[in-house]
Amino acid sequence: MSTVRTVAELRSAVAAARARGRSVGLVATMGALHAGHLSLIARAREQCELVVVSVFVNPAQFDERADLERYPRREREDAAAAAAAGAHVLFTPSVEEVYPENFATLVEVGGVSERLEGAARGPEHFRGVATVVTKLLCMTAPDVAYFGQKDAQQLAVIRRLVRDLNLPVRIEALPTVREADGLAMSSRNALLDGEQRERARALPAALAAARELVAAGERSAAALTEAAAAAMAPYRVRPEYVELVDPDTFAPVAQLAGEALLALAARIGEVRLIDNTTLSATAAPPRSTPPRPSQRTRGEAIATCSA
Ligand code: AMP
Repeated sequence: MSTVRTVAELRSAVAAARARGRSVGLVATMGALHAGHLSLIARAREQCELVVVSVFVNPAQFDERADLERYPRREREDAAAAAAAGAHVLFTPSVEEVYPENFATLVEVGGVSERLEGAARGPEHFRGVATVVTKLLCMTAPDVAYFGQKDAQQLAVIRRLVRDLNLPVRIEALPTVREADGLAMSSRNALLDGEQRERARALPAALAAARELVAAGERSAAALTEAAAAAMAPYRVRPEYVELVDPDTFAPVAQLAGEALLALAARIGEVRLIDNTTLSATAAPPRSTPPRPSQRTRGEAIATCSA
């Protein structure tokens, strides 16, 4: 694996691979790589002949200065992990390389950016994400770019901007990789102390409560979100938001029909965590209807949830 720090070096590595007819995959990260990131690299490795992994802690998407300052940075370990996972090129640009003097262009995605994370963190968050992802896609020009379902709204924003700007790239989403107790892997988990790590179990507990209710036939968003919030209470965690939304537009959904996303955010001490699960109305028969052999069982219903 080669490590490059400039756009020019990245472009020449990609051009050399293209000249040999190789396909190119991009995994964009903010570093502190964990098994979630590595699953994206592994998939890129399966599908593409040149795998580029970017590590860039993008200041433009942080709405809190303290969050940016304490965000874990582990360049040496990241390089070792990316190489072991099969990356060919590690792109670790400086802030000045990505945002040179007089940088003045921002990408703003309407609609889907405005709710949940957009409302909680302010418009600069998804503007920062959309701008840096557009830049990384333009710098690398990959055939496929890989993103995690863990950041479902970010994924929806990226899908929207790729369609709206006619960017010639396929976006592939991968399921959330979790710790043994269900906590979604996140670089920010490293910032939790022992007691906070225990309390963080509130997030997967909330998602499990909603899934169980769906499997029992519940379809009302209010009932599902209330059950999710109630499941967090024993951990002394209150959600910042918990909502049932359309997975593409992030518009609220009042009644589960087809597929919807239950998304939530919560703060454990200073650390803000997000998580989500796909809920499917076809995952279980409605209450009071006896299951028919052609319908899925409750166990299968849980297994079909992508998060
Ligand atoms: P980040 O470094 O947090 O910006 O994440 C980089 C990419 O990894 C994004 O596409 C995330 O959605 C994805 N990702 C982060 N955590 C996970 C996880 N637990 N499972 C799968 N993908 C993840």
